Amino acid sequence: MARRSIGLSDALYDYLLANSLREPEILRRLREETAGLPAAGMQISPDQGQFMALLARLMGARRCIEVGTFTGYSALAVVLALPPDGRLIACDVNEKTTAVARRYWQEAGVAERIDLRLAPAVETLDALIAAGGAGTYDFVFIDADKSNYDSYYERALELLRPGGLIAVDNVLWGGSVIDSTANDSDTEAIRALNAKISVDQRVNCSLLPLGDGIMLAHKQNS
Ligand code: CA
Repeated sequence: MARRSIGLSDALYDYLLANSLREPEILRRLREETAGLPAAGMQISPDQGQFMALLARLMGARRCIEVGTFTGYSALAVVLALPPDGRLIACDVNEKTTAVARRYWQEAGVAERIDLRLAPAVETLDALIAAGGAGTYDFVFIDADKSNYDSYYERALELLRPGGLIAVDNVLWGGSVIDSTANDSDTEAIRALNAKISVDQRVNCSLLPLGDGIMLAHKQNS
Protein backbone atom coordinates (compact mmCIF):
# COMPACT_ATOMS: atom_id res chain seq x y z
CA MET A 1 0.00 0.00 0.00
CA ALA A 2 1.35 3.41 -0.92
CA ARG A 3 2.01 5.61 2.08
CA ARG A 4 1.91 8.85 0.14
CA SER A 5 0.86 10.47 -3.12
CA ILE A 6 2.51 9.27 -6.29
CA GLY A 7 5.14 11.53 -7.79
CA LEU A 8 4.04 13.02 -11.10
CA SER A 9 6.55 12.90 -13.92
CA ASP A 10 5.79 15.08 -16.95
CA ALA A 11 4.68 11.99 -18.83
CA LEU A 12 2.35 10.87 -16.03
CA TYR A 13 0.91 14.38 -15.72
CA ASP A 14 0.27 14.37 -19.49
CA TYR A 15 -1.50 11.04 -19.08
CA LEU A 16 -3.60 12.48 -16.25
CA LEU A 17 -4.64 15.41 -18.43
CA ALA A 18 -5.28 13.24 -21.47
CA ASN A 19 -7.55 10.98 -19.43
CA SER A 20 -9.55 13.49 -17.44
CA LEU A 21 -9.30 17.06 -18.65
CA ARG A 22 -12.43 18.50 -20.23
CA GLU A 23 -11.32 22.08 -20.57
CA PRO A 24 -13.83 24.26 -22.42
CA GLU A 25 -12.32 25.92 -25.49
CA ILE A 26 -12.72 29.41 -24.00
CA LEU A 27 -10.77 28.41 -20.88
CA ARG A 28 -8.04 26.93 -23.05
CA ARG A 29 -7.72 30.19 -24.98
CA LEU A 30 -7.65 32.20 -21.75
CA ARG A 31 -4.94 29.93 -20.38
CA GLU A 32 -2.88 30.26 -23.56
CA GLU A 33 -3.17 34.05 -23.59
CA THR A 34 -2.23 34.22 -19.91
CA ALA A 35 0.81 31.99 -20.51
CA GLY A 36 2.31 34.86 -22.50
CA LEU A 37 2.13 37.32 -19.59
CA PRO A 38 5.07 38.05 -17.28
CA ALA A 39 3.21 36.73 -14.22
CA ALA A 40 2.01 33.60 -16.02
CA GLY A 41 3.03 31.45 -13.05
CA MET A 42 0.07 32.85 -11.11
CA GLN A 43 -2.31 30.94 -13.34
CA ILE A 44 -3.85 27.81 -11.84
CA SER A 45 -3.46 24.58 -13.80
CA PRO A 46 -6.37 23.34 -15.92
CA ASP A 47 -6.80 20.20 -13.84
CA GLN A 48 -7.04 22.37 -10.74
CA GLY A 49 -9.69 24.51 -12.41
CA GLN A 50 -11.66 21.41 -13.28
CA PHE A 51 -11.30 20.13 -9.71
CA MET A 52 -12.63 23.39 -8.27
CA ALA A 53 -15.53 23.30 -10.71
CA LEU A 54 -16.29 19.77 -9.53
CA LEU A 55 -16.21 20.91 -5.90
CA ALA A 56 -18.66 23.70 -6.70
CA ARG A 57 -20.98 21.21 -8.40
CA LEU A 58 -20.72 18.70 -5.55
CA MET A 59 -21.67 21.37 -3.05
CA GLY A 60 -24.45 22.80 -5.16
CA ALA A 61 -22.67 26.12 -4.67
CA ARG A 62 -24.50 29.30 -5.67
CA ARG A 63 -22.66 32.02 -3.76
CA CYS A 64 -18.91 32.05 -4.25
CA ILE A 65 -16.03 34.38 -3.47
CA GLU A 66 -12.58 34.44 -4.99
CA VAL A 67 -9.69 36.30 -3.36
CA GLY A 68 -7.15 36.89 -6.12
CA THR A 69 -8.54 36.78 -9.64
CA PHE A 70 -5.57 37.50 -11.93
CA THR A 71 -6.77 36.94 -15.53
CA GLY A 72 -9.97 35.23 -14.46
CA TYR A 73 -9.38 31.54 -15.22
CA SER A 74 -10.48 30.12 -11.86
CA ALA A 75 -13.46 32.47 -11.63
CA LEU A 76 -14.63 31.42 -15.09
CA ALA A 77 -14.04 27.72 -14.40
CA VAL A 78 -16.14 27.93 -11.23
CA VAL A 79 -18.93 30.13 -12.58
CA LEU A 80 -19.41 27.82 -15.56
CA ALA A 81 -20.12 25.05 -13.02
CA LEU A 82 -22.74 27.01 -11.07
CA PRO A 83 -26.48 26.90 -11.65
CA PRO A 84 -27.92 29.83 -13.67
CA ASP A 85 -28.53 31.89 -10.53
CA GLY A 86 -25.02 31.23 -9.20
CA ARG A 87 -22.81 34.25 -8.56
CA LEU A 88 -19.16 34.88 -7.76
CA ILE A 89 -17.56 37.91 -6.14
CA ALA A 90 -14.03 38.34 -7.50
CA CYS A 91 -11.53 40.34 -5.41
CA ASP A 92 -8.41 41.77 -7.00
CA VAL A 93 -6.44 45.00 -7.16
CA ASN A 94 -4.98 44.76 -10.66
CA GLU A 95 -6.91 46.59 -13.37
CA LYS A 96 -4.70 45.29 -16.16
CA THR A 97 -4.95 41.55 -15.51
CA THR A 98 -8.64 41.75 -14.61
CA ALA A 99 -9.28 43.52 -17.92
CA VAL A 100 -8.25 40.24 -19.57
CA ALA A 101 -10.59 38.44 -17.18
CA ARG A 102 -13.53 40.71 -18.02
CA ARG A 103 -13.00 40.15 -21.74
CA TYR A 104 -13.28 36.38 -21.39
CA TRP A 105 -16.17 36.52 -18.91
CA GLN A 106 -18.01 38.70 -21.41
CA GLU A 107 -17.33 36.31 -24.24
CA ALA A 108 -18.47 33.37 -22.12
CA GLY A 109 -21.73 35.16 -21.37
CA VAL A 110 -21.19 35.16 -17.60
CA ALA A 111 -19.95 38.72 -17.01
CA GLU A 112 -23.14 39.73 -15.22
CA ARG A 113 -22.71 36.82 -12.80
CA ILE A 114 -19.23 37.84 -11.68
CA ASP A 115 -18.99 40.87 -9.42
CA LEU A 116 -15.41 42.14 -9.71
CA ARG A 117 -14.34 44.28 -6.76
CA LEU A 118 -11.16 46.20 -7.50
CA ALA A 119 -9.96 46.96 -3.97
CA PRO A 120 -7.80 45.37 -1.29
CA ALA A 121 -9.58 42.08 -0.60
CA VAL A 122 -9.64 42.57 3.17
CA GLU A 123 -11.75 45.70 2.59
CA THR A 124 -14.09 43.86 0.26
CA LEU A 125 -14.52 40.93 2.64
CA ASP A 126 -15.12 43.29 5.57
CA ALA A 127 -17.73 45.12 3.49
CA LEU A 128 -19.49 41.82 2.73
CA ILE A 129 -19.56 41.00 6.45
CA ALA A 130 -20.80 44.50 7.30
CA ALA A 131 -23.56 44.10 4.70
CA GLY A 132 -24.87 41.04 6.57
CA GLY A 133 -23.14 38.43 4.43
CA ALA A 134 -21.74 36.35 7.31
CA GLY A 135 -22.82 32.71 7.11
CA THR A 136 -24.26 33.04 3.60
CA TYR A 137 -21.53 31.92 1.17
CA ASP A 138 -20.91 28.41 -0.09
CA PHE A 139 -17.38 28.45 -1.45
CA VAL A 140 -14.33 30.72 -1.11
CA PHE A 141 -11.11 30.35 -3.10
CA ILE A 142 -8.09 32.11 -1.58
CA ASP A 143 -5.24 32.73 -4.02
CA ALA A 144 -3.83 36.24 -3.46
CA ASP A 145 -0.93 37.85 -1.59
CA LYS A 146 0.32 35.25 0.84
CA SER A 147 1.18 37.60 3.71
CA ASN A 148 -2.55 38.32 4.12
CA TYR A 149 -3.60 34.68 3.96
CA ASP A 150 -4.64 34.51 7.60
CA SER A 151 -6.78 37.64 7.28
CA TYR A 152 -8.47 36.18 4.22
CA TYR A 153 -9.02 32.82 5.91
CA GLU A 154 -10.64 34.30 9.02
CA ARG A 155 -12.97 36.50 7.00
CA ALA A 156 -13.79 33.67 4.60
CA LEU A 157 -14.69 31.42 7.53
CA GLU A 158 -17.04 34.07 8.85
CA LEU A 159 -18.68 34.54 5.46
CA LEU A 160 -19.20 30.80 4.88
CA ARG A 161 -22.37 29.00 5.77
CA PRO A 162 -21.96 25.89 7.94
CA GLY A 163 -20.89 23.17 5.51
CA GLY A 164 -19.27 25.73 3.23
CA LEU A 165 -15.79 25.21 1.83
CA ILE A 166 -12.59 27.24 1.62
CA ALA A 167 -9.84 26.26 -0.84
CA VAL A 168 -6.47 27.89 -0.18
CA ASP A 169 -3.98 27.80 -3.05
CA ASN A 170 -0.19 27.49 -3.07
CA VAL A 171 0.02 25.94 0.36
CA LEU A 172 3.14 23.92 -0.55
CA TRP A 173 4.68 27.05 -2.09
CA GLY A 174 6.97 25.23 -4.51
CA GLY A 175 8.33 23.19 -1.59
CA SER A 176 9.51 26.28 0.32
CA VAL A 177 7.38 25.33 3.30
CA ILE A 178 10.02 22.74 4.28
CA ASP A 179 13.06 24.82 3.28
CA SER A 180 14.55 26.02 6.56
CA THR A 181 16.42 28.80 4.74
CA ALA A 182 13.15 30.25 3.37
CA ASN A 183 12.08 32.79 5.99
CA ASP A 184 10.41 35.43 3.83
CA SER A 185 7.02 36.74 4.92
CA ASP A 186 5.10 34.85 2.22
CA THR A 187 6.54 31.49 3.17
CA GLU A 188 6.10 32.18 6.88
CA ALA A 189 2.47 33.17 6.35
CA ILE A 190 1.73 29.99 4.41
CA ARG A 191 3.43 27.79 7.04
CA ALA A 192 1.51 29.52 9.82
CA LEU A 193 -1.85 29.11 8.10
CA ASN A 194 -1.24 25.44 7.26
CA ALA A 195 -0.29 24.74 10.88
CA LYS A 196 -3.35 26.63 12.10
CA ILE A 197 -5.86 24.96 9.79
CA SER A 198 -4.47 21.50 10.52
CA VAL A 199 -5.68 21.82 14.13
CA ASP A 200 -8.54 24.28 13.63
CA GLN A 201 -11.60 22.64 15.19
CA ARG A 202 -13.91 24.99 13.30
CA VAL A 203 -13.16 23.07 10.10
CA ASN A 204 -12.50 19.65 8.61
CA CYS A 205 -9.44 19.81 6.40
CA SER A 206 -7.46 18.09 3.70
CA LEU A 207 -4.20 19.24 2.12
CA LEU A 208 -4.06 18.02 -1.46
CA PRO A 209 -0.78 17.86 -3.43
CA LEU A 210 -2.59 19.18 -6.51
CA GLY A 211 -0.90 21.98 -8.41
CA ASP A 212 1.15 23.89 -5.82
CA GLY A 213 -0.86 22.38 -2.97
CA ILE A 214 -4.45 23.15 -2.03
CA MET A 215 -5.75 23.22 1.53
CA LEU A 216 -9.44 22.46 1.77
CA ALA A 217 -11.20 23.66 4.91
CA HIS A 218 -14.84 22.62 5.37
CA LYS A 219 -16.72 24.67 7.92
CA GLN A 220 -18.21 22.62 10.74
CA ASN A 221 -21.92 22.76 11.35
CA SER A 222 -21.60 24.09 14.89
CA1 CA B 1 -2.06 30.46 -7.02
